[in-house]
Amino acid sequence: MAGERILLVEDTDELRQHLATRVLRPAGYEVLTAQDGAEGFTLAREVEPDVIVSGYEMPRVNGLSMLEALHSAGIYIPFILMTAEGSEALAVRALRMGVNDYLVKPFSGEELLLALQRTQRRYRTRQIAEDIPEQLLQVNRHLEQRLRELDTLVSLGKRVTGQLERQQVLSQVVEAAVEIAGAESGSLLLVDHATEELYQVASIGEAHEVTGDLRLRVADSLAGRVVQTRQPLVIAGEELQKIKTRYLFRALAYVPLLLKNRVIGVLGVTTRQEIQPFEQHKVQLLNVLADFAAIAVENARLYAATEKERDTLNTILRDTEDPIIVVDDQGHVLFCNPAASRAFNVSLTRCYGQPLAEVLDHREVVELFNKEARSGRGRRTEIALADGRFLHAQLTIIRGVGRVVVMQDITHLKDLDRIKNDFVTTVSHDLRTPLTAILGYVELVRRAGPLTQQQRQFLEHIVFSVQSITTLISELLELGKIEAGFDEDREPVPLAAAIRHVIETYRQAWEAKRHTLQVRLPDDLPPVLGNPLRLRQVVSNLLDNAIKYTPEGGQIRVMLEADGDFQILRVADTGIGVAQKDLPYIFDKFYRSDEAIEKFSGTGLGLSIVKGIVERHNGRIWVDSQVSKGTTFTVMLPSYVPTPDAPAE
Ligand code: ADP
Repeated sequence: MAGERILLVEDTDELRQHLATRVLRPAGYEVLTAQDGAEGFTLAREVEPDVIVSGYEMPRVNGLSMLEALHSAGIYIPFILMTAEGSEALAVRALRMGVNDYLVKPFSGEELLLALQRTQRRYRTRQIAEDIPEQLLQVNRHLEQRLRELDTLVSLGKRVTGQLERQQVLSQVVEAAVEIAGAESGSLLLVDHATEELYQVASIGEAHEVTGDLRLRVADSLAGRVVQTRQPLVIAGEELQKIKTRYLFRALAYVPLLLKNRVIGVLGVTTRQEIQPFEQHKVQLLNVLADFAAIAVENARLYAATEKERDTLNTILRDTEDPIIVVDDQGHVLFCNPAASRAFNVSLTRCYGQPLAEVLDHREVVELFNKEARSGRGRRTEIALADGRFLHAQLTIIRGVGRVVVMQDITHLKDLDRIKNDFVTTVSHDLRTPLTAILGYVELVRRAGPLTQQQRQFLEHIVFSVQSITTLISELLELGKIEAGFDEDREPVPLAAAIRHVIETYRQAWEAKRHTLQVRLPDDLPPVLGNPLRLRQVVSNLLDNAIKYTPEGGQIRVMLEADGDFQILRVADTGIGVAQKDLPYIFDKFYRSDEAIEKFSGTGLGLSIVKGIVERHNGRIWVDSQVSKGTTFTVMLPSYVPTPDAPAE
């Protein structure tokens, strides 16, 4: 091929000249010539031509011997043999020795040029074939390097997610960054948002030596620039450069630790060896490592926060005076605080994971835990302890956890209740006894002898007044009880039945005044969660007023209906009505209208009692009235709809 160097070894001057000057040079080859094998060997070693074209028969060293000598010297050059002898044996020998082509004299210049082209083509093909493994090896090495990088990333990724020790993960990230980037030094800095500074948390190489208490200002440091721009920073140059950390580098790469689009730190590597910038793919890998570091920092923060929260919660649960016991869905103890352990004499260490019934020797508490399908009322109970204390226990079902019973010491409330009951008994007794005595003496006076008309009237006044005082005392005591929050026990009460019962007890009263009573009480309404006694008292007071404040022959209506989640009770009459000016006050204690004071007996406490009870049942009450036309009291109470896991008892 043109421009390539041919070594022509031929002893016949004529042929050598001819081939060199007439064939090869005109074809563009550079030609060196030698007269025999010995000279050819020397030249071939010196200049390493691209092809050797050699005769066979030559004085001193023939063509094949020269080829052999070259091979022995480790020199392999494409070789074309020219021979006068067309023997097959020689051809075979020549080919075995690695001769690339074989020309039998006489041959034309054209034939030589074709042979040269063939040889060179074959030689190139062989060379390419020989080069391929080298290229493959290179690709392989490249792939292995990538695999190593990936391995490092994957194993680091696993450690980041599986390990909570922040410092360890961050040190490993820096180590991996230095290794993957082929750097000498690496560091990881975190942003202190309060002071607008970066502080070093992990380092390797030179960066490690300058750690101490290293803090860099975000405003004027290279790492700070990464925080501000949120972009990687890659610097390189021949000159040694110095960064705020006081060590020198020629190439540097800083990448941001991003968390929810916020830079929380910077991962950096530097080298003094390289003047080229860190390659793009290495910066990308550093980005991945920075992501790992950001996750590790966040994980550690969340873990610490959760730990702190758990500690706080544990402390609260441990130190609270209220006994608390938690069991799982299978009834095994999950938690029992020291207050519960003291109250029930249970060993804290022994009870965890055990069936509650086996570790807790208190029938009522164990039963309460089993009441999961009961109504709200069923999930509360009072528990008497062996040491004389009383606990109010409340069961709560927590889906996915189990059941929790929280208990509060109500011994003092029990004491108060007892004191109140004693007081009520005493007051009732002490006040009622003299009143009973008065009534007794009035009766004796009546029997003692004939009385004048006036004396009889005086005695009737005494009896009336005593009865009024008795009613007042009873109502005052009732109101006291309601306001103090006693009678808080709740149960589903079918309101229609309760109302019917009250109406019956008043039959005599309304019949005496010849009132007509109209009643509409559907039986298919849901119950109301309440105290049955108190709910009857509401109806009773309203009905009592309606009968009382309606002149003879009036009309009274008692109606119940549902409205959404509520039940509406109306007690209406055609009585004297309430004047506009009195309406805002009639639910106040002791308030009575002038007309009521004048014409009807009463204490002014009935409606206060009604309002107190309704409100304690999460209800409302209001009144509509027109003087001389009548009055309607409306009571609204929430219906009781049991939750699926707590059907009504
Ligand atoms: P008392 O009936 O003992 O006076 P209440 O608290 O029951 O006490 O009633 C307070 C006041 O409200 C009554 O004095 C009366 O003026 C008025 N009142 C209550 N119910 C009715 C009614 N149905 N019709 C007219 N006035 C009423």
